[in-house]
Amino acid sequence: MVKDIQLRISLIEEERADILLIKASQFLEISREKISGVKVLRKSIDARKPKIIFNYKVAVYINEPVPETSEYTFDYKDVSKAKPVHIIGFGPAGMYAALRCIELGFKPIVLERGKNVKDRRRDLKAINQDHFVNEDSNYCFGEGGAGTYSDGKLYTRSLKRGDVRRIFENLVYHGATDQILVDAHPHIGTNKLPKVVQNVRETILKYGGEIHFETRVTDFIIKNNTIQAIQLQNGNEMEANRVILATGHSARDIYYLLHKKEIALEAKSFAMGVRAEHPQEIIDSIQYHCSGKRSDLLPAASYSLVQQVNNRGVYSFCMCPGGFIVPAATANGEVVVNGMSPSKRNNLFANSGIVVEIDVHKDLYKYEHFGVLKGLEYQKDLERLAFTAGGRTQTAPAQRLTDFVNGKLSPTLNPTSYQPGLNSAPLHSLLPKLIGSRLRQGFKAFGEKMHGYYTEEANIVGVESRTSSPISIPRNEKLEHTQIKGLYPCGEGGGYAGGIVSAAMDGERCAEAACS
Ligand code: FAD
Repeated sequence: MVKDIQLRISLIEEERADILLIKASQFLEISREKISGVKVLRKSIDARKPKIIFNYKVAVYINEPVPETSEYTFDYKDVSKAKPVHIIGFGPAGMYAALRCIELGFKPIVLERGKNVKDRRRDLKAINQDHFVNEDSNYCFGEGGAGTYSDGKLYTRSLKRGDVRRIFENLVYHGATDQILVDAHPHIGTNKLPKVVQNVRETILKYGGEIHFETRVTDFIIKNNTIQAIQLQNGNEMEANRVILATGHSARDIYYLLHKKEIALEAKSFAMGVRAEHPQEIIDSIQYHCSGKRSDLLPAASYSLVQQVNNRGVYSFCMCPGGFIVPAATANGEVVVNGMSPSKRNNLFANSGIVVEIDVHKDLYKYEHFGVLKGLEYQKDLERLAFTAGGRTQTAPAQRLTDFVNGKLSPTLNPTSYQPGLNSAPLHSLLPKLIGSRLRQGFKAFGEKMHGYYTEEANIVGVESRTSSPISIPRNEKLEHTQIKGLYPCGEGGGYAGGIVSAAMDGERCAEAACS
């Protein structure tokens, strides 16, 4: 017999290796000898009160063996001679579109402007050390897309739990820890992601798909509103009649191209702000009600904050406990920050985007002349401003959190994880009022919600501008572009995803549409 039960375990109890067995036997009022094993189905931490509780959902096997950990299998077929589906971009959306095509018996031909994960590393080093951004290979572009050198948080607001589980099982199949199947806040980590991404590549090649790295798509050949071919940067043309466009929201050249070709785009609301960085110990002591070092049984603490300020949301975004702030620009002449963390989340800093909602229809009246591109142009201006204020390198403009709120330049800054370095700048006066004044009020409110958060030991670093796409590419119920037959806008760049898991799920959906 198998019984699913919920158990609450205290921090002291959690230290015992056999605690789940003991608690299960007490809960079910049966002797331990009758329990053949206890399998964790879900684990979360409740740290709202000083007495921290680990909540477990477990399956208790009574007088019957615990099944071996299931091996997840996917029905991949040899597609080497099958009909092609062209996929532009090899981020989470493109990767999962390619894998789904193989299951459905179609041959994915992937075109990716960036390099493979290994070669991409050299370009990341160049950004961090030489302040040089390779416009095809950086933290956003290259094998695995923006999801590779990321935090690898796998949270999604999607309610389609079955589809989410499928993505998680596929990640485990490709080498991610099976812990992601039980954790309430699953996370892979930037040190583990490249191997997972490489394994996905190997599956695609093994079953007959093609992946072309360092192959940027520069144009589409369209006749009678139907896609006919793809033009590549080297001048070659590839015949194509099913094209999944999964280029992410940093591929501005693709938006400009579609706009120039009068292919419909829509302006979309998005969010921008700064990244806040605290010593991890401060966040741990607030969240775990402790002073100094947290217990080894607890992960680096995270937070999630939201406040309405003057009719716009100010909220934390992509919080990275025990992580690093990274330079996520995709062109020289701009500074963009984002965050990532290793699987152990053992760095000394906690960082998070703190962003303000921007209503593209109400807030950007000075940019109206850019039409559907207005959000993108606003985003670009802010990134250029950060570049100038940072000192015209990848050094980012920064301020102590308290100085930002009180409107004064910081004479010195706190230590940081951001490798290219920080430059003290008056972000309080440089940021547009729309963002700056809401952030200042937001930070004060956050300090009231989380005592100790509002501290001079924190820096804010500019700018966090690539939270989501400022443009969407419209598609119909068959997921085809509303105007162009055979073109399937997909993932974050299309405006249909916000994060690794939702992009992967949209990739699968687009593959199903393109293969039907
Ligand atoms: P992308 O991942 O952006 O992939 C698009 C791909 O298309 C890129 O590889 C690009 O090189 C390629 N491409 C672009 N233009 C062309 C062209 N013209 N020709 C050929 N190829 C092209 N999300 C989470 O859920 N959890 C996290 O912890 C997290 N952390 C992040 C940390 C960082 C530093 C960054 C930058 C992002 C993070 N994100 C995170 C966001 C997440 O990575 C994205 O939401 C996700 O990758 C979007 O997937 P996508 O496939 O739609 O697009």
